[in-house]
Amino acid sequence: MALADDLIREIDGRREDLIALTQDLLRIPTLNPPGENYRDICDYLQKRLSRSGFDIELIRAHGTPGDSDKYPRWNIVARRDGDRPGECVHFNSHIDVVDVGHGWTKDPFGGELVDGKIYGRGACDMKGGLAASIVAAEAFLAVCPDFAGAIEISGTADEESGGYGGVAYLAGKGYFSPDRVQHVIIPEPLNKDRICLGHRGVWWAELETFGEIAHGSMPFLGDCAVRHMGAVIDEMEQSLFPALAQKRTEMPVVPEGAKQSTLNINSIHGGQSEGDADFTGLPSPCVPDSCRMVIDRRFLLEENIDDVQAEVLEVLKTVEGRRDKFRYDLRELHRVLPTMTEKDAPVVRTVAKAIAETMGREAEYVVSPGTYDQKHIDRIGKLKNCIAYGPGILDLAHKPDEYVGVDDMLDSAKVMGRSLIELLARPCESSLNKGGSHAFA
Ligand SMILES: [Zn+2]
Repeated sequence: MALADDLIREIDGRREDLIALTQDLLRIPTLNPPGENYRDICDYLQKRLSRSGFDIELIRAHGTPGDSDKYPRWNIVARRDGDRPGECVHFNSHIDVVDVGHGWTKDPFGGELVDGKIYGRGACDMKGGLAASIVAAEAFLAVCPDFAGAIEISGTADEESGGYGGVAYLAGKGYFSPDRVQHVIIPEPLNKDRICLGHRGVWWAELETFGEIAHGSMPFLGDCAVRHMGAVIDEMEQSLFPALAQKRTEMPVVPEGAKQSTLNINSIHGGQSEGDADFTGLPSPCVPDSCRMVIDRRFLLEENIDDVQAEVLEVLKTVEGRRDKFRYDLRELHRVLPTMTEKDAPVVRTVAKAIAETMGREAEYVVSPGTYDQKHIDRIGKLKNCIAYGPGILDLAHKPDEYVGVDDMLDSAKVMGRSLIELLARPCESSLNKGGSHAFA
């Protein structure tokens, strides 16, 4: 098709621009925590996208976790409307990056280009994806100026710390409502031929066991909270972990080990806290009267969060039946329900077709073991037609010498651009035409 050929040529012609854009984004260190330079990167994106005809909104997520005058949570939403009514395709990228860590051989904020790879913190997760979506949209606008509907590009804060100052905030303000946006693509680094349909659920809880303090030479005069916790862990080993390993999902989760329910013991603290590194004294002899454990349970679409909690309570009841003076408290810290977009949803079918046309092979469908901002778009925004698709190798995220390949960015920009053609260039033949946008609200 002529339009697609023009688009591919247009994107190939923008290789140097794509490299420069990615480098510019990497050179703004948007470290989170604490959430630095969000305004700077939003200003940069505002300049770039207003030149391309987008209307810009800069939105500060006032009062969200971490937001302060020193570290304001700024977000950008850019929108360009076509001349005719149609659907809106939204590309959402988070603008924050995680801590640099040790082991780098390149400048983490230098954007160095070596052998077709651009290095830097956030190169693959996910400034490379943001740059690819911008170049895809601009190339599409160049070859198809009279499109229908709208294109939106957002850069949002705090994904790495839960997304509350970013996508969750915007979703709460209606930015991801199905009457405003119909298709969402999140260019997270899932490899350029894979479509990520969603993620598993999360339940974090803190369990505390209680005892009674006494002199350590006479532990029988007290009650050891750590031994109570030991009994809980033992019961988990006997009953809970084997049961979780039996729960398999139909979700195409990668890697393979995450195709089942999992539980991580995130931390455990009992008795006296450890002294500072420079403390040279001995501890005092005490029976611990408290022990706290944080658990991180990841669950499947086939599971219900009430059952997930009930399983842990069952362990505690069993231990209670065996031990005198067993007292505990269980507090929920955090919950995210699992989400998975249907394979025949319009955005999935569109991107799958574009991958096949661009890469000459069928798209692979995956589900993420951990969560990302899709959770807020689903639960708060009530929008189900959402996927993650973008360039970069998932395993490089958060690692030293993180990079993104220029060819990978170009390929995924072509997939994104073809998807725009499919959804916005020919509205009459569009996948959503019959039912309208509310068909999957
Ligand atoms: Zn990410």
